[in-house]
Amino acid sequence: MKKVNNIAVLTSGGDAPGMNAAVRAVVRTGIYHDLNVYGVMYGYRGLLTDDIFPMESKSVANIIQRGGTVLKTARCLEFYEFEGRQKAYENLKKRNIEGLVVIGGDGSFNGAMKFSQEFDIPCIGLPGTIDKDIAGTDFTIGFDTAVNTAVEAIDKIRDTADAHDRLFIIEVMGRDAGYLALHSGIATGAENILIPEHTTTVDDIINDLQANERRKKMVNLIVVAEGHEAGGANGLAKRVKEKCPQLDTKVCILGHIQRGGSPSTMDRILASRMGYAAVDALLEGIHNVMIGIVNDKVAYTPLDKAVKAKQEIDPEWFKIVKILAS
Ligand code: ADP
Repeated sequence: MKKVNNIAVLTSGGDAPGMNAAVRAVVRTGIYHDLNVYGVMYGYRGLLTDDIFPMESKSVANIIQRGGTVLKTARCLEFYEFEGRQKAYENLKKRNIEGLVVIGGDGSFNGAMKFSQEFDIPCIGLPGTIDKDIAGTDFTIGFDTAVNTAVEAIDKIRDTADAHDRLFIIEVMGRDAGYLALHSGIATGAENILIPEHTTTVDDIINDLQANERRKKMVNLIVVAEGHEAGGANGLAKRVKEKCPQLDTKVCILGHIQRGGSPSTMDRILASRMGYAAVDALLEGIHNVMIGIVNDKVAYTPLDKAVKAKQEIDPEWFKIVKILAS
């Protein structure tokens, strides 16, 4: 087995709470194994602009509890082009970097996959996204924190909805994935949850609201994933107001608060375990995979498989939502 001496770590794409805990784990595990660990600022952009610096154990002190990412993150258009990736390769090669840990979402893994196919830099992906939209892992770094943030906010909205007998339509993030909406909706006892993966229509929602009104259930919370075809919370509210003008309907879009905040215990542990496993994989010669945790065990998924598939949502959840909110 070839001895690895130098590795680099970056955070890329949308930020997620727990990315810092993952960076810390990569750096400290690397140093434990006598590796030189480099940090790359601003994701792939830092590879192109040569914003790469050696990290020490103390570079990652006091960050496990912090949201955001100390390595910063960015989207980098030049990395979509071969010339951009070549520049990135040259900057890594001149430092003899032999492995790259990419903490990010499926876009970042697409970039890592291309890069590792074209150049001799093995890449390891760590799923850092609040959307939980990546196959090959039960949870992604940041999801649990984002759900908890959404739940805290929705609980507060229920208090005011209850005081006024209002219908609140709450939009949560998740791009075209509904996990954040599903988990936060179940945990807050939402009367309805709309996610792209399930075929609840606006007419279904209106029928339910009318039935609830008949039985004098006036407080209703509907959690909508931003990617639902109804057009998020505003699109749904417009239709509901047309059909049920008598309802006192309000919209709340939770937005970017879901990305921030101190990572939950679960995300810190997940990130620590994954960061450790990433360095372990590079040392073992396991290349171009994403590290996941499946059934509480470390699992490797080839980067191309991790980006092509999604986790599935069991339709039984919708039965549960209906029964528990009735
Ligand atoms: P996320 O990782 O959160 O899904 P993006 O989709 O914005 O975020 O991807 C992050 C970065 O990864 C992009 O700005 C780009 O630099 C790189 N990237 C994404 N897709 C590709 C691709 N198909 N080829 C090369 N690089 C890519």
